[in-house]
Amino acid sequence: MLMITCTVTGNREFVGLDAVRSVTNHPDHIAVAVTCPACGGEHVHRTGRRLDEARRAARLEAAVRRAAELAPA
Ligand SMILES: [Zn+2]
Repeated sequence: MLMITCTVTGNREFVGLDAVRSVTNHPDHIAVAVTCPACGGEHVHRTGRRLDEARRAARLEAAVRRAAELAPA
């Protein structure tokens, strides 16, 4: 689970791993693209800028990769 802010409604939304579309590593952060449960659009959540967030993002990325290996699209 991670929390995003919907850019359409402005609300904070919890999204699960099944909503994650892609995880992209950048030098100073990790961009997580998710399908928004509120508006159905795709939002990019940037994380990993702090150590605790980086650890959480690394676990998220590992979980997404594992899920992709188990169920190739
Ligand atoms: Zn949204």
